[in-house]
Amino acid sequence: MTASNLTAAASDVVWAAYAAAVRIPEHAVPVDRVAGCARCGLVTTVMTPVGQVISRRFTGLEHWTNLAGRHLCQVCVWVYRHRPLRTHAHVVTRRPGALTQGNRQLLRQVLSAPVSSDVAVIVPLRPGRKHLLPAAQWGHVTTDDSHLTWSESDAARLTVMSRLRRLGFTETMLSDEAPRYAILHRVPADQWAMVFDDWERLDAWRHADPWWQVRIHASRM
Ligand SMILES: [Zn+2]
Repeated sequence: MTASNLTAAASDVVWAAYAAAVRIPEHAVPVDRVAGCARCGLVTTVMTPVGQVISRRFTGLEHWTNLAGRHLCQVCVWVYRHRPLRTHAHVVTRRPGALTQGNRQLLRQVLSAPVSSDVAVIVPLRPGRKHLLPAAQWGHVTTDDSHLTWSESDAARLTVMSRLRRLGFTETMLSDEAPRYAILHRVPADQWAMVFDDWERLDAWRHADPWWQVRIHASRM
């Protein structure tokens, strides 16, 4: 195995997720590109023809590194067939290796801090529509159409949004320019200043999809 292939298996989010969730697969460098996995370029003990795994409507080819390949390795078959990966948020970590299926609570917890370069998060905003893990990158939150960095201030904005949700403001209301009186009048008067302050902190982000959508998703109770 060459150094670059070793790196591929060690640095690929999909391989890290598989190693953590299933087992560390036996793999090798293929004799030629045609023999290698169409997505990752490596070979494993069992190889499956591409046509048995993905449909004709498949649109994720831009994430494949070896389009000469006619097969997928067992790691890449898993990533396309393991349905929960398409329907639920997941968190992959490198050191130690782990794959965690995230409910909203876990997602909120993970996104309440910056996403470090040893972590990859996938958040299917329209569950079931797309394979997100093959597109995932370390240090990013991957949604249906984007890779987002997640800084300290992104995390802080999620905390702000969750606080407003707990006070009763709905998803739709959070997009309004100002807090609605219908909810505000139920909030103790000594918290109004905080509400207005929080509202202002979200201002620049109200129309900043997809950060807004990820935050809305994670702040759901
Ligand atoms: Zn593969």
